[in-house]
Amino acid sequence: MIDLNNIEIAFKIKTDKELKSAYFLFSIIKSPFTVRSLGFLSSLALKMRLPVAWAVKPTLYRHFVGGEAIEECFPAMNRMFVENVKSVLDFSIEAVKEESEIDSTFQELKHSVINSGKHAAIPFSVFKPTALTTHDILKKVSFNTPLTSEEQVSYNNFVQRIDTLCTEAVKAGKPIMIDAEDYWFQKAIDNITEDMMLKYNKKTAVVYTTLQMYRHDRLDYLQYLIEFSKRHNIIIGIKYVRGAYMEKERARALEGGYPSPIYLTKRDTDNAFNEALRISVENCDRIHVFCGTHNDESILALMKYMKNKGLPNDFPTIYMAQLYGMSDNLSFNVAKAGYNVAKYLPYGEVRNVLPYLVRRAEENSAIANQTARELMMLEQELKRRKSLK
Ligand SMILES: Cc1cc2nc3c(=O)[nH]c(=O)nc-3n(C[C@H](O)[C@H](O)[C@H](O)COP(=O)(O)OP(=O)(O)OC[C@H]3O[C@@H](n4cnc5c(N)ncnc54)[C@H](O)[C@@H]3O)c2cc1C
Repeated sequence: MIDLNNIEIAFKIKTDKELKSAYFLFSIIKSPFTVRSLGFLSSLALKMRLPVAWAVKPTLYRHFVGGEAIEECFPAMNRMFVENVKSVLDFSIEAVKEESEIDSTFQELKHSVINSGKHAAIPFSVFKPTALTTHDILKKVSFNTPLTSEEQVSYNNFVQRIDTLCTEAVKAGKPIMIDAEDYWFQKAIDNITEDMMLKYNKKTAVVYTTLQMYRHDRLDYLQYLIEFSKRHNIIIGIKYVRGAYMEKERARALEGGYPSPIYLTKRDTDNAFNEALRISVENCDRIHVFCGTHNDESILALMKYMKNKGLPNDFPTIYMAQLYGMSDNLSFNVAKAGYNVAKYLPYGEVRNVLPYLVRRAEENSAIANQTARELMMLEQELKRRKSLK
């Protein structure tokens, strides 16, 4: 069994200075109070248009983000690629409202998809559907609420833009992943993604949907997708994640008086996540997998399912992935063992990346063990290097 905690391999590409600043950063975000204050201050700064770059850029931003533009990500991308860890460049922008903003986001996403075709270090492109339309429209479509004629035009443009990104992915020869976000919007996204898979996934999985396995309806949806694949003779691409919006979803369900879409316990989510991986490996002729997690158990479970099925470590249609700045012990040790590994490498202006950064800080502070583990490994590696001097 592979050692996922070999710190020498995990931090091989990091300089001493980078390790020390990562240590400093994780020591700060391990405090829930600090992270709550950060969340409050950042939303205030965004509302009041206060300058925040001076504080965020040398700290959180530098640790979790590749740069403001695609080209600024290349140094980080190339360093990781030397160790066989690839990058999925993730243009970060959330909650766009104006049509002009949507259009410039679309142009950047198109640029990102085209760029994926130019680099062996980039195996996929990705986008967030909410960057291309408004929340209102997505929610209405998901709940079958009629659209005004203006909204209908806007929605048609949205579908057209997604179709264009998928066409560009075909031209680039790299698959494209469609992120999952709030439960409220997901029905609309699922429907469009199925249409795109019908159109583009005849020979291979060009389009990947995302299944958030904290939702208790997703194992049924997976079965539906397998049937869908058989019925239409297409390949399904699936990114598996646990889901990033649990607190928000539960609070909304309570407020809206509908049952929470999220499992009651973490164990239920973990079981569903691993079961989905097992089913996918069993059906690897129909399902291409991108497993996005920082959870060792799930990574080890996926490796076991692959082995039981007789698949080689580098089976081309199974990827394991983490976020840039997190769980390097998994990414680099798993890549060293020959599996396909990628890191989501976000890029964008500081203001636009801020909500993403706050989510990362919250996640790291909420999962106390994870932060403690990052700190412990960073400390061990710093000590190990010192002992060699
Ligand atoms: C490459 C990559 C891409 C990603 N893309 C997306 C995306 O498109 N959409 C998205 O929503 N998220 C995305 N995420 C984030 C992901 O959903 C998780 O929030 C994050 O990875 C933490 O889960 P984990 O499996 O890494 O680790 P773990 O620490 O094992 O799991 C934490 C997660 O478990 C679940 N959980 C925790 N407590 C409970 C509980 N009491 N009951 C039920 N469930 C619980 C929650 O989902 C929580 O985030 C992505 C993550 C990665 C690594």
